[in-house]
Amino acid sequence: MLFDVFENRIIVRGKIIASKPLHIGASDNGIDPVQVDLPVLKDRDRRPLIPGSSLKGVLRSRLEAILRNPALKGSWSSCNVINDDESCIEKYIDDIKERNKDNYRAIAEEIYQKSCDVCKLFGNKQMSSRLQIKDMMYIGERLEYERRDGVGIDRDSGTAYPRAKYNFEIVPAGALFDFYMVAENLEEKQRKLLNLMLKLLRDGEISVGGYASRGLGQIKLIDEKIDEIDKNNIASYYGLG
Ligand SMILES: [Zn+2]
Repeated sequence: MLFDVFENRIIVRGKIIASKPLHIGASDNGIDPVQVDLPVLKDRDRRPLIPGSSLKGVLRSRLEAILRNPALKGSWSSCNVINDDESCIEKYIDDIKERNKDNYRAIAEEIYQKSCDVCKLFGNKQMSSRLQIKDMMYIGERLEYERRDGVGIDRDSGTAYPRAKYNFEIVPAGALFDFYMVAENLEEKQRKLLNLMLKLLRDGEISVGGYASRGLGQIKLIDEKIDEIDKNNIASYYGLG
């Protein structure tokens, strides 16, 4: 079973390049919607970053959409956690807990087995994710941000701004970010999903942030290096052999 015990770890390192300008907005909290410039999210040194959680969310919804294709029905399963309130496991959870009483290991195993292929990788309310993506930090010292004219309504969010015109800040195309992703104890199917995500990222089929309808947000994974650690090479990988 894939619990408690170390089976394997896959580490993907690389760079993310903004192949189109990016606008990943700073948190809605404390942002005045009538202010002229909508800023991008920045670290303390005013460098832009892409939150790992944002990319994870985009990748998850993309995988869910692909796996819900009728052609894949029967061989793959996916809930629709981005759009639905509940993940696939919630309808079973009371029954699982009732039947297994205080046997927490049995509960955890059954939750895993009954979860869909996407939840088995990304987790759900009942179990943690096996995939981590670090926040992608800007590579470089300073960045000159650019501005774009907005229109009255952001079609992506549907938000109507009181001003007919406003500006939003963008990170120019070509900006580079550090990429670091770790996946642990993946089964064969989840390994395939990981490979699919990397392919989508390599091929520039993933967009992050706002204004996608205006062609913003496309990113690409480049300079990728994959390390795999398992029982056979863990000693040599960590220099403990
Ligand atoms: Zn699910």
